[in-house]
Amino acid sequence: MSQTTSSTPSGDSTAAAPDQQVPQVRKTDAEWREQLTPQEYAVLRNGGTERPYTGEYTDEKTVGVYRCRACGTELFRSETKFDSHCGWPSFYAPLAEDRVRYISDRSMGMTRTEVRCAACDGHLGHVFEGEGYGTPTDQRYCINSISLTLQPERP
Ligand SMILES: [Zn+2]
Repeated sequence: MSQTTSSTPSGDSTAAAPDQQVPQVRKTDAEWREQLTPQEYAVLRNGGTERPYTGEYTDEKTVGVYRCRACGTELFRSETKFDSHCGWPSFYAPLAEDRVRYISDRSMGMTRTEVRCAACDGHLGHVFEGEGYGTPTDQRYCINSISLTLQPERP
């Protein structure tokens, strides 16, 4: 009944995140460069930011799931997308907390919280809170369109 299995399929004993639920996606820099367009690479792998009001999903209303453009992990749902008028797609929560990871970003003379894909470590954007948008979480996940791929929901 309470038999324990001692074999881990991956054999990865160095994993530092025991509660990590999202399968990790690891590729070399060369592999990412081959898979992604130069624009996608600049944001996802180099932490760049697309220019405001230029992303394809900024005003997107379609119901569906937003996946990581690099690895396909489901990151956000359209139900949590809201009109922030900040120039980038904005969500008030990730699809699940285990889909993203947070990194303190002290670049550009301020402290911001960077949001990355938990599976492939790709840069998605930043999260801000307490801005008074009136959403359930009072958070704004400010995400680059180019880091996402919208999968419309089939009726
Ligand atoms: Zn990813």
